[in-house]
Amino acid sequence: MPEDIKSMYEQELKEAFSEMGEPSYRASQVYQWLHSGVKSFDEMTNISKSLRQKLMEKYYISSAAIEKKLVSDYDDTKKYLFSFRDGEAVESVLMKYHHGYTSCISTQVGCRMGCTFCATGKSGFSRNLTASEMIAQLQAEQEDNQIRISNIVLMGMGEPLDNFDNVVRFLHLVSSEHGMNIGMRHISLSTCGLVPKIYELADKKFQLTLSVSLHAPNNQIRSRTMPVNRRYDIDELLKACRYYIKQTNRRISFEYAMIDGVNDSDAAARELASKLKGMLCHVNLIPVNEVGGTGYQKSKRERMQSFISILEKSGITATVRRTLGSDINASCGQLKRSVSRKNAAKGDESK
Ligand code: SAH
Ligand code: SF4
Repeated sequence: MPEDIKSMYEQELKEAFSEMGEPSYRASQVYQWLHSGVKSFDEMTNISKSLRQKLMEKYYISSAAIEKKLVSDYDDTKKYLFSFRDGEAVESVLMKYHHGYTSCISTQVGCRMGCTFCATGKSGFSRNLTASEMIAQLQAEQEDNQIRISNIVLMGMGEPLDNFDNVVRFLHLVSSEHGMNIGMRHISLSTCGLVPKIYELADKKFQLTLSVSLHAPNNQIRSRTMPVNRRYDIDELLKACRYYIKQTNRRISFEYAMIDGVNDSDAAARELASKLKGMLCHVNLIPVNEVGGTGYQKSKRERMQSFISILEKSGITATVRRTLGSDINASCGQLKRSVSRKNAAKGDESK
C-alpha cells in the first residue's frame, strides 16, 4: 500500500530519504513541491527520473477533485464539493474579504456529534480526513481561482478535535516555512466542546483562534440541541475555556446560533452574560441557517438586537456575524445533502 507522502513532516521525509540513500536537501525539495500543489511526481522537474519512479512506487499524493461548485450571486463566495481518492466527499467554502481569501475547510467526512440544527450532524459519520486531505482542499481552491489563501477556518464538516492527531499534523504542516507558511494567527479552529481535547490543545500553546460553539446559556437548552453537552457540561466546558485562555493568552470566540424561541430570550442573554463575565472572549451571534427537516427558524432581527444589547451592557463584546453566500447554502453540510438527495431521487447532479 503506497503511503500518504503529503501528510509527512519535512523531518520525517528526510529520515525516509536517508533510508533510501538520498540526501536531506532532496527531501526538502520534494516537500516544497508537495506543498506548492503538484499532483504528480513527474511535475517535480528538479528531481531525477529514477527517484521520481521510486517515489511513485512507495507513495501517493493526495488531491481534492471538484465534484461541484456553487458561486454566490451576491458576493464572491464559492462553495465546493470535493472528492478524494476513495470517492468520499466533503465541502469547503472560499470567502473573499478585503484583507484576502479565507477558506473554511472540512476535517472529517460527516460528524459523530449529532447537533440537531446541523446538516452535517444529520448525515452521520464516515471517516476522518488525513492532514494532506485538509491541505488538498486549500490547494484545489488556490488552483481553481489562481489566488493565495491567507486565512483558514476549521469550520467545515466534522469536529476537528474528534480528529485531533490529524488536525494537529495539518496545523504544523500548513504553518511550516517550506509548506504553505500560513501562520497560526491566521487560523481558527471551531469545536463543539470536547473538553479533554481543549486541555490538550491549550498545552500546545498554538497562537490560533479557538471558536467554541456554545449556542446556549445552560445545560437544559444546550443538551437539547447538542448531545456533546451530556458528556461535558457547560460548566466543565467554560472551565476548559478559561484554562485555554490562561495557557495561550488568546481571546476565545463563542459561536451562538440564534434559534427562534429556543435560545434567544432576554433571560438567556442575561444567563449567558453572567456565565461569561470577566472572560477574555467575544460572542458571535449567527442567525441559524434553516436546515430542512430540523424545524428551527432564525430569530427575528429585533430579538437579536435585544440579545446583543444585554450582552454589551454586561461588558461582553458581541457581533452579529456577516453571513456570506447565503444564496448558496454556505453553511457546510447542506450542499452535500442536497446533492445526495438529488442523486437518490433522479441521478441528477445539476443545481
Ligand atoms: N464541529 C465544529 C466545527 C464545524 S461546525 C463545531 O461544531 O464547532 C461550524 C459552525 O457551524 C459551528 O459553530 C456550528 O455550531 C455551526 N452550525 C452548524 N449548523 C448550523 C446552522 N444550521 N446554522 C448556524 N450555524 C450552524
Ligand atoms: Fe458536528 Fe459541528 Fe455539526 Fe455539531 S455543529 S454536528 S459538532 S459539524
